[in-house]
Amino acid sequence: DVEIAIKVVVVGNGAVGKSSMIQRYCKGIFTNDYKKTIGVDFLERQIEVDCEDVRLMLWDTAGQEEFDAITKAYYRGAQACVLVFSTVDRDSFKAVESWKSKVENECGTIHMALVQNKIDLVDEALVTREEADDLAKRLRLRFYRTSVKEDCNVSDVFQYLARKYIDQ
Ligand code: GDP
Ligand code: MG
Repeated sequence: DVEIAIKVVVVGNGAVGKSSMIQRYCKGIFTNDYKKTIGVDFLERQIEVDCEDVRLMLWDTAGQEEFDAITKAYYRGAQACVLVFSTVDRDSFKAVESWKSKVENECGTIHMALVQNKIDLVDEALVTREEADDLAKRLRLRFYRTSVKEDCNVSDVFQYLARKYIDQ
């Protein structure tokens, strides 16, 4: 049995919740002041998809995204991508397309999902439901609304990407 391992890169502006999402999914924890452990490139979680064991390696950044300084090593060999923006950060929504281009420039066409995180803060939303839906449609991306804080819809994102990879 050959093990299936998928490298997943998680991209988006700083503070949208990427590190929190990876921590939540791989360790089951949420904190308000998560700081990346120095020296760890990725966290992993094993799941089952259609009776196949799949190892997901979720790559985190150490905050380089804020300086547009993500290295090629981060993207190298990625087979799937999560594009994240925040409900309460309009700039992060506007940056989604440029993140998608960056990933495609380094990785070619890989499976992607669009994620609107922090939906628990919907009362303070700076992005409307309609414009988020429109973006997903225009970019032809599967779209998820998540709250990492409340553990809402997070695992669906990774299950979707794993299934896409297996079914390709
Ligand atoms: P990153 O820079 O994209 O890695 O973002 P972080 O994971 O460091 O998260 C930035 C801040 O947003 C932290 O204070 C998190 O606790 C917070 N955060 C992450 N996800 C959520 C969420 O779903 N809801 C709320 N309210 N806060 C969140
Ligand atoms: Mg981070």
